[in-house]
Amino acid sequence: MSAIWHPFTQHGLGEPIPLVERAEGAALHTRDRRRVIDAISSWWVTTHGHNHPRIIEAVREQALRLDQVIFAGWTHQPAEELAAGLRGLMPPALTRVFFSDSGSTAVEVALKMALGFHAHTGTGRSRLLVMEHSYHGDTIGTMSVGERGVFNAPYDPLLFDVGTIPFPVGDGANTLEALEAACRDSRPAALIVEPLILGAGGMLFYSPAVLRAMAEICRAHEVLFIADEVMTGWGRTGTLLACEQAQVVPDILCLAKGLTGGSMPLAVTMASEPVYAAHWSTDRSKTFFHSSSFTANPIACAAGAANIAIWRDEPVRERIATLGARQQAMIDRLSDLPGVANPRRCGTIAAFDVVAPDGGYLSSLGPRLLAFFREADMLIRPLGNTVYVLPPYCLSEEDHARVEGAIVRALETVVRAA
Ligand SMILES: *Cc1c(COP(=O)(O)O)cnc(C)c1O
Repeated sequence: MSAIWHPFTQHGLGEPIPLVERAEGAALHTRDRRRVIDAISSWWVTTHGHNHPRIIEAVREQALRLDQVIFAGWTHQPAEELAAGLRGLMPPALTRVFFSDSGSTAVEVALKMALGFHAHTGTGRSRLLVMEHSYHGDTIGTMSVGERGVFNAPYDPLLFDVGTIPFPVGDGANTLEALEAACRDSRPAALIVEPLILGAGGMLFYSPAVLRAMAEICRAHEVLFIADEVMTGWGRTGTLLACEQAQVVPDILCLAKGLTGGSMPLAVTMASEPVYAAHWSTDRSKTFFHSSSFTANPIACAAGAANIAIWRDEPVRERIATLGARQQAMIDRLSDLPGVANPRRCGTIAAFDVVAPDGGYLSSLGPRLLAFFREADMLIRPLGNTVYVLPPYCLSEEDHARVEGAIVRALETVVRAA
């Protein structure tokens, strides 16, 4: 029996845990000789496909040269190359690149930068604003700025207090009014949001107009605007960044998942010059005190630099447009089926909610769907009753049709049986 305690896995349920031996493109190959289609990009990380030759080659070459080195006061070529690449690709106002290892740490760093900015410029502001249903990670700070619920109830005594604005309904006036009031009344330090799509919250979409208006309100009240593009970045919403669609440039930007094409654990928090300048001093007490052992690991940075080269040299945007069109066609067809509610698509992400024929939401549907998809050789992991497809951009037309076929069968089997 394996000694491994898996993440987000209830071992008491005894669900099978397949062993994956290798992968290429959008396919995973298991030890029991199954070919599984990775329809959720291995939890939203894989962008160009598994084992992209260019990324694998960069990792191989870097591993032969320099495996790891302290990053406090030292640097290396892959980090310099990746930082320069990010400066070329991301909004020019984001002048500084801070490395860490995961989406959660990228967000922790963003929160610390925001608080550091206000501490060092003497504004007296420290309160954080967040959006209802958000997810920003599983560490204590990121849980604090995320939705409270079953996932973090036992740790509630450790979570700090934040101001919450509601998720937009209709034209989003509810959100904007609440944000305006919070900015006026509580003098917050920063607002952190997932731009356009709340991922773990259930693939909830809101409009670029609301995103833009939120950023404008923050600017008017000198509240830092933190964009957590850990999931939405690297093309998922159709553009490189979701913020682009609202012509928003955040003060602080969090990137992870697709930063290395999804191949290695690496994250960056990009900051505007004023945020950096607030920490810049001959006074050591204003140093940005954050590091982890593997900050800017050279092999991971080499994978990140290869990802940027792929964005520069390959028709990534065309692949995203093609996948988006196929996702739209799929969601249009699925929307006619019984059990499908709120069919929606943003960029490369398609989602819908599953409802009982009588219109009520089914309980325990998620686990049954999960089991169905596993047996159908599909990596699809519903969020509660929300089924979504978020594939690598290389997903072939044939495999896309297989994904759709599995969803249709799942609806027939699981929903009809309910
Ligand atoms: C996944 C995710 C995170 C956390 O990233 P990890 O690398 O899993 O720590 C943070 N924010 C958003 C929006 C995410 O989707």
